[in-house]
Amino acid sequence: MDTKPKILIVEDEEKIARFVELELTHEGYAVDKAADGRTGLDMAENNAYDLILLDIMLPQLSGMEVLRRLRKNSQVPVILLTARDAVMDKVTGLDAGADDYITKPFSIEELLARIRLALRKQQPVAMPQLSCGDLVMDIARHSVSYKGENIDLTGREFALLQILLENQSIVLSRDTLMEKVWGYDYMGETNIVDVYVRYLRSKIDDRFDVKYIHTVRGVGYTLKQGEYDA
Ligand code: CA
Repeated sequence: MDTKPKILIVEDEEKIARFVELELTHEGYAVDKAADGRTGLDMAENNAYDLILLDIMLPQLSGMEVLRRLRKNSQVPVILLTARDAVMDKVTGLDAGADDYITKPFSIEELLARIRLALRKQQPVAMPQLSCGDLVMDIARHSVSYKGENIDLTGREFALLQILLENQSIVLSRDTLMEKVWGYDYMGETNIVDVYVRYLRSKIDDRFDVKYIHTVRGVGYTLKQGEYDA
């Protein structure tokens, strides 16, 4: 089992990204890199990172835009990498939901200290939980388990499961789910909800041989314990 904290570096300056990657790997973190905003957002939404280092000046999507979109679904700690004296960036970044920022050029010691602090802050005091039977979602820790066994979910999967858990036994239409998880401006595939329901089923229902996510034909989906209406 891999218990190393996973960190995503979104930074287009290859020299900085590589340097930070080497140092973080050396410190025992698992590290992924993205060199532009769009790739970074995509990776952040589809992997369970413990922390994201996010440059502000990025090609394709700015760091601020990545942060704004990410915060719709995720409370993963984000440390912004800002240019020297960019005061506006810092204020806007913290307003947009960044946990911290560090000014370039930074020392690796300072970055490591900030990372440790952000990861520690993530350890929750009070833990809001959602549950259905033995399926438990801990929102603050962004974790899900069944009978104590951890279930590794991506950001979108987590968001979808959260909405289903918050609305137990209520049938939610695909449109409602799409809007709540992907937003009004989602322009991708229309069967995205079905695809993600399939992911959740394989990670929960199939894996533990239980039946939580039920299809209501012609309407949508609902989460409850019981039998499939097949
Ligand atoms: Ca940059």
